[in-house]
Amino acid sequence: MNLSFHGAARTVTGSKHLLSLKNGVKILLDCGMFQGLGADTDSLNSDFGFDAASISFVLLSHAHIDHSGLLPKLVKEGFEGKIYCTQATAELAEILLHDSAEIQTYETEYVNKKRADHNLEPYEPLYSHEDVMNAVKQFGIVDYNKPFKPATDVSVTYINNGHLIGSAAISISVTEDEKETNILFSGDVGRTRSPLLQPPSETPQADYIIIESTYGDKHHDVSFNHIDNMLEWIKRTCIKKEGKLIIAAFSVGRTQEILYILNQLELENKLPDLNVYVDSPLSLKATEAIKRYPPAF
Ligand SMILES: [Zn+2]
Repeated sequence: MNLSFHGAARTVTGSKHLLSLKNGVKILLDCGMFQGLGADTDSLNSDFGFDAASISFVLLSHAHIDHSGLLPKLVKEGFEGKIYCTQATAELAEILLHDSAEIQTYETEYVNKKRADHNLEPYEPLYSHEDVMNAVKQFGIVDYNKPFKPATDVSVTYINNGHLIGSAAISISVTEDEKETNILFSGDVGRTRSPLLQPPSETPQADYIIIESTYGDKHHDVSFNHIDNMLEWIKRTCIKKEGKLIIAAFSVGRTQEILYILNQLELENKLPDLNVYVDSPLSLKATEAIKRYPPAF
């Protein structure tokens, strides 16, 4: 077998790894979009570096756009196989991919106006809402800890990895020349202490591990997540200084954690009488989806 990396290498976005087996099966691990790389972003997203139509199936670790964001483009370019993921990932990915299509339409219109001024050819957005709807039809729902066989001589198991609702580490067992090889794809690795998510489960032994290393050897700063610290910042900013506390947070995952902590403070009658606003339609949609998956502690 052969493993090639088409993203999330020397950078943290664009997760896309291709496992090609001797029997011709091609397994794509994630199909993420490159984000925030300046002038290189568009060119990195425009070419996969492999033939989309040749992929047998996709194993999607979780819904974040840097892992799922190019699925509609993959389908648009001829991929017809299944995109395996958990139910929660399917629901969140649908919301996020439509949001991504919206952003691209808006940004492309803006860029094309400027290009038209200089008599330049218009850019095409990477994909449309229609492409998202086509991609969503190819989702194949899988459960945690239940091995399934997406192809001959391939067995796959999704394991909770505590990063996001529905997120998974993926264990892949391949038999070639009567020899079994176990590969573990970690996805994004969650924290052991999260107010809303179960901690990552143990993963099986593997011969090869493809592991996320975004934070390398750094310790996560948990101080702001700590309920008392958050309360201290709120009091200092909103009461003492009579100001407004603006918290920048990812729409899916972090925003819901912060809302959960604020709710806890409210239930304990510790939160001062303040208005709280979530200024993001995407966050509100994601919160509705996430509410359907309460953690089973
Ligand atoms: Zn992620």
